[in-house]
Amino acid sequence: MEPGGPVWAVVVAAGSGERFGARKQYAALADRRVLDWSLAAARRSTDGVVLVVPPDRAGDDEPVDAVVTGGATRSASVRAGLAAVPPDAAVVVVHDAARPAASAALFEAVIAAVRAGADGAVPGVPVVDTIKRVHDGRVVETLDRRELVAVQTPQAFRASVLRAAHAGGGDATDDGALVESAGGRVVIVPGDPDNVKVTSRADLDRLAAVVA
Ligand code: C5P
Repeated sequence: MEPGGPVWAVVVAAGSGERFGARKQYAALADRRVLDWSLAAARRSTDGVVLVVPPDRAGDDEPVDAVVTGGATRSASVRAGLAAVPPDAAVVVVHDAARPAASAALFEAVIAAVRAGADGAVPGVPVVDTIKRVHDGRVVETLDRRELVAVQTPQAFRASVLRAAHAGGGDATDDGALVESAGGRVVIVPGDPDNVKVTSRADLDRLAAVVA
């Protein structure tokens, strides 16, 4: 399937929100849920959306093409969503429901990079802190900040490449990592510093200002 065909989104919202203390994707942000903001940008930029939810939410009526139940890890949830993406999809965009400020422009930028020939495209923002690799409380290495980016979602992939990368059942904190390990060419597009992931209550306050 050439990357000129239909684009589908998989929005993962099946996390338990252990660090946040509740399911952050269902928390209120301005006049809607966090999830609604994330879905709105996905719907604007794609031909179809699959939403992946916790088991007790599988019966919810959501404004998407399919609602499926997630798994124990983020990667398992993405796989559950991918299984519901139609076989003729050419590009699949994976997005965290917990990033409600992702713009339609950012979706379109990662999709365009895949249409232009990349196996995958992920948004990255420069790292402002110095990052050290640490083992047992001792610094092993100081990384060169100029070579580092912090990556976000949405992440777009050729559908066949993403399906193949997930076929092994691997586990990673983003889909780019699975595609890279499978030998795919993943490119970086400029990310958006406002596209923060809800991790704490303070993030919700910051995001309320962004979406206002
Ligand atoms: O936990 P973290 O913030 O990395 O989760 C990123 C996204 O993945 C969230 O939108 C969360 O709901 C989703 N997720 C999932 N299934 C899991 C774990 C996380 O859909 N088992």
